[in-house]
Amino acid sequence: MNSETKDVCEICTNLCSSVLQKTIDNQSVTSDSFYTSTKNSYLFHCSACNYFFTKTQFEMEDFYSDKYSLLHEGFFQDQIVFLPDGAPIERNRYQADYIKNLTCNLDIRSICDIGCGKGLTIKLLSEDLNNLDTFVYDLGQDSYKLVWEKYIPTTRVLPSLNGVKKRFDLVYSFFVAEHVENLDSYINTCINLINEDGAFIACLPDIAQNHGDIFVSDHLRHMSHANLQSYLNNTSLAEFDFKIWTDQSLRALFFAVGKRETLRSLNVESKDNISNLGEVCRDKILSLWPKNNKTQILNSIANKDLILWGSQFYGKLAALTLSLKDVLVVDGNPHFQGTIFSLPNGKKVIVQGPETLYQNNCKNHVILLCMNDTAARALQQKLPEEIKAKAITLF
Ligand SMILES: [Zn+2]
Repeated sequence: MNSETKDVCEICTNLCSSVLQKTIDNQSVTSDSFYTSTKNSYLFHCSACNYFFTKTQFEMEDFYSDKYSLLHEGFFQDQIVFLPDGAPIERNRYQADYIKNLTCNLDIRSICDIGCGKGLTIKLLSEDLNNLDTFVYDLGQDSYKLVWEKYIPTTRVLPSLNGVKKRFDLVYSFFVAEHVENLDSYINTCINLINEDGAFIACLPDIAQNHGDIFVSDHLRHMSHANLQSYLNNTSLAEFDFKIWTDQSLRALFFAVGKRETLRSLNVESKDNISNLGEVCRDKILSLWPKNNKTQILNSIANKDLILWGSQFYGKLAALTLSLKDVLVVDGNPHFQGTIFSLPNGKKVIVQGPETLYQNNCKNHVILLCMNDTAARALQQKLPEEIKAKAITLF
């Protein structure tokens, strides 16, 4: 076996093998929907602790500052997440409310947001809570500086996390832990910033709730509750304890570090304390990578014209892993109809509505359902028989 395809598990030090085949044009393993070049990256699975992790070498050194600088154009542009009752809410609004609710029993005067990005969460928090002393830190500070000066002028910026004298009542960090090279050093740097009775609160994607996360190239770890528990059990946290819980709206694993008393007063909802949302099943996750069962799929689509149903993450993933060169793309979401879908070879296709499928000129077509299995099942139940007969579930 090639030495590149082995790596050490950061939880149990087991030597692990990479688990996904490369695509025909050697795009490897994990990739995001922008076809970020990650030919030297691999997804590994530790069979000893059932843990997926990614080793990525970005070809662009300034990956973070470059990619995320695009966001400046709309400070208030935000992703949408869904509340348990299905109602949509903007992600940063949700995060600010979440922090407020979680820490409602603590006396918080000073807060630091690590990996704040544009700073929208801390802006909303400081509007809601009066007299809060706010600080931010972000690796991409050169590109965010002007945005911060404009939108969060009273928030102070930490230029570096080393040598900070101030201690905070609360340090929080949303979706940073999956990006950092050295998790132990990140956690210890953050807990060095908290007061004796303070708390450090962080979250990362929960693989049990979000299987697709293993394909995101700049997410270096894809943890389950059990993985995080083992990791933190083995990590030295100075005089502090830790606590882990999950959140459904963010599909995230949360952890907090602080004194036992502080952790006890965090307002975690009892439903989020369920430690196991179901065993993370290796085979089920790996079957999401169409390349792994490619022969069967390619046989069934040979010499047929292809239609991708789904223009987002899973559509891009199918195009990448099956090296698709010529397709029609349809999407049931009117927001995506009329937008451009780029193929890995650079070809651009205009996304159409599904009514295209009912036209006579689609006789010799195969429809690849590019969505998660729940969505595919729901869609198939609604399709007329002649369309259903042409549809293949990919994920
Ligand atoms: Zn392991």
